Amino acid sequence: MKNNIIIWFFGFCLFSNSIFANHLAVSCDDLKCDEPLSQKLIQNGVKYETSKAIIWVEKGSLTQEEIHQFGTLVEQGITNIEKFLKNNLDVKKSSGRKLQYFVSPKIDVSHVYYKDLKGLYDPKLFMPSQRVKDHNAPYLHETAHILAGDNSEWFSEGFASYIESYVSENMGGYSAHIFDLDGNKGIDEQAAKAIRTKAGKAAIQLIGDNEKTLSLSSNDQTLRAAAYVLYQSAVKFLIKNVSLEKTMQIYREKGTEKSFNEVTNHTLEEWKTKWIQHLTTGNK
Ligand SMILES: [Zn+2]
Repeated sequence: MKNNIIIWFFGFCLFSNSIFANHLAVSCDDLKCDEPLSQKLIQNGVKYETSKAIIWVEKGSLTQEEIHQFGTLVEQGITNIEKFLKNNLDVKKSSGRKLQYFVSPKIDVSHVYYKDLKGLYDPKLFMPSQRVKDHNAPYLHETAHILAGDNSEWFSEGFASYIESYVSENMGGYSAHIFDLDGNKGIDEQAAKAIRTKAGKAAIQLIGDNEKTLSLSSNDQTLRAAAYVLYQSAVKFLIKNVSLEKTMQIYREKGTEKSFNEVTNHTLEEWKTKWIQHLTTGNK
């Protein structure tokens, strides 16, 4: 599992726990499990292809119209995120490869992989069909993970959530609003509340820490909710104060201390302090 870089979007857990938890007690949580599912969908699923994506859908889970709508959203979403990132993308290394989306009721939580089991770059995105049907799939968030590239947990989740909000608010498509209530507009207000809670105080320790992650097996939904909100607010603060270009420069250099110093003349810790001050004094 270490060889396969996995980014989970945990928001769906709240929903999936109540609906699927029992019979999906042994749900997919790594590529060894997801790979057979993706192969099955390639063999037996409904294929929908656009210029930038191939979508494989479990037969009977969505109507042709729903598949077409989702395919159109995905195509627009990729184009908009590429535009947002100004083509400064990790995806370039895939040299025009289409992103593959797998949609099935057997998928518990939306997530992505950057690499295949051999460690070769092979981006795959997995989405629960019910969320696609209900128009609350985090397809922009997950697509942003692939197009922006991998990073430490706080940075990659914060950036993917920021992009999902920005693109849906300004360019088109929809946001899943799994943890954010009102996208980038309301995220600081939510973060200001979260930071005062026990979960928020715990989550904030992870911001700026490039090693620690929220445990993938953790069931602490309150901690996850606080973390996603705080991650997004932290990235928004950085982009607002440093610029998107410089934030991406730091992002490409994996958010190291050195990159913060070189690009902004401030340490990561200084930015974190300023951001916390902004949350605690700047939001009434
Ligand atoms: Zn994510």
